[in-house]
Amino acid sequence: MSRALPVNVMSVDVEEHFHVAAFDGHFPRDEWANQPSRVEANTSLLVEMFAAHGVSATFFVLGWVAERYPSLVRRIVAGGHELASHGYAHEPAFRQTREQFAADAMRSKAVLEDAAGCQVLGYRAASFSIVKRNQWAFEELERAGYRYSSSVNPVRHDIYGFPDAPRFNFTPAGTNLLECPVTTLEIAGARVPCGGGGYFRLLPYPVFRWALRQVNASGHSCYFYLHPWEVDPDQPRVDGVSWKSRFRHYNNLHRTEQRLARLLQDFRWTRFDRLLGLAAG
Ligand SMILES: [Zn+2]
Repeated sequence: MSRALPVNVMSVDVEEHFHVAAFDGHFPRDEWANQPSRVEANTSLLVEMFAAHGVSATFFVLGWVAERYPSLVRRIVAGGHELASHGYAHEPAFRQTREQFAADAMRSKAVLEDAAGCQVLGYRAASFSIVKRNQWAFEELERAGYRYSSSVNPVRHDIYGFPDAPRFNFTPAGTNLLECPVTTLEIAGARVPCGGGGYFRLLPYPVFRWALRQVNASGHSCYFYLHPWEVDPDQPRVDGVSWKSRFRHYNNLHRTEQRLARLLQDFRWTRFDRLLGLAAG
């Protein structure tokens, strides 16, 4: 008897190429408005690709982006996708006070709901920045009206990571919120990140597909993420960043689009709110 494999979640963190943690310090916030914008064109390409494959996804949009491009937000929703929040200003949660984090989470929700005219239930912290020491963030998300979060990467990493968090959905202590950690594979007791982003570009596609299939075979849905700038090999190059940051950001950008097309075809995908049973319609 065959058993249907779990449905997975496709998600996009909608931000500009200059918002990423790898370029930390190179783009102060008061210079963002002067940078060439790529986010509209790149996000539109993803919306078109998802339409071509009949996939509905969750878009975690930065409040800063939604304020400047409200028509992009409406295009995402009109495409049948879930609108969720990536915070307002891409400041990692562990660099904010509890009060600052709460204000940012509320502001982004209001900006997004205003632009789209629909409710926002989901949140993803910039750079998966909910870690062991700032779990108060979950309480603030619940207070701001969010129902779920996908802000934990349960691995060891030099920038983010919450290595002893559960690998699969959990309810943080003291809340009714659901946290949906990005996908990892456990091999010989070690957690290997395979949820998307740089790992999707680094690993050969068949290896990545094998990893996701392993997770599905164990009965769990995969939570995949990517960024609009990852399908933009022609984005302006940033000078003066470390070799490591350069590699992380630019490695295999020219291959992402083709790999994503295979991924969309090889697995079943949906949006977070539908998988979690939160969708209104
Ligand atoms: Zn981000």
